[in-house]
Amino acid sequence: MQFDHERNAMIRTQLIQRGISDQRVLDAMSAVPRHLFVPMDGRDLAYEDRALPIDQGQTISQPFVVALMTQALQLTGNERVLDVGTGSGYGAAVLSQLASKVYSVERHSALAQFARQRLYDLGYTNVRVLVGDGTSGLPEHAPFDAIIVAAAAPWVPRPLREQLSSSGCMVIPVGGRDEQFLLRLTKHNGSMKVERMRGVRFVPLVGSHAWEKADW
Ligand code: SAH
Repeated sequence: MQFDHERNAMIRTQLIQRGISDQRVLDAMSAVPRHLFVPMDGRDLAYEDRALPIDQGQTISQPFVVALMTQALQLTGNERVLDVGTGSGYGAAVLSQLASKVYSVERHSALAQFARQRLYDLGYTNVRVLVGDGTSGLPEHAPFDAIIVAAAAPWVPRPLREQLSSSGCMVIPVGGRDEQFLLRLTKHNGSMKVERMRGVRFVPLVGSHAWEKADW
């Protein structure tokens, strides 16, 4: 298939060599055709070691960051997952291979529409894409066993914390405009364990429980 070689090289050099070891994550990222989630004129760059621009001034995250965040959730296949920031839909497609149901929320309706169509065309039937402010979560579908936020938050939005199931896990970049720290929060016996993973740089999370405006 087209781009198989590039995708295999991405798995080897960007993921395995950097310590991504969850075979289910590696298999999922081997299976999802990333080039079909980037704009037509960026396809040749789809498997490069970087984030790429998509519409509405947003980005599709770097493959390594998608792998790192997804691996941190330790999904086994039975989980209900909330994905905040659908963007291209790539992250949701990867998650769909690893969990039973994915709810993906995007604030830009044009992006959500494209992602929904693309996911449908490619047969990712366990993903539901919704338009809205993901900082409020999705109370009607909560609780979630895992929550992944693909945009930079000034703090952990309270609704997301509350909508995490009793042993759930959330991965979210938290910090200022230029750099954030990827945090993993794990609920256990009513308390929340917080681990700092690494420095990252994401587009802003804009909503009623995060930044107010897109242009920081
Ligand atoms: N997971 C995406 C990454 C997209 S970048 C992918 O694989 O392509 C982050 C996305 O978060 C952007 O599309 C941006 O519009 C969206 N976003 C920012 N704030 C949001 C909010 N409050 N609710 C939902 N989506 C939001």
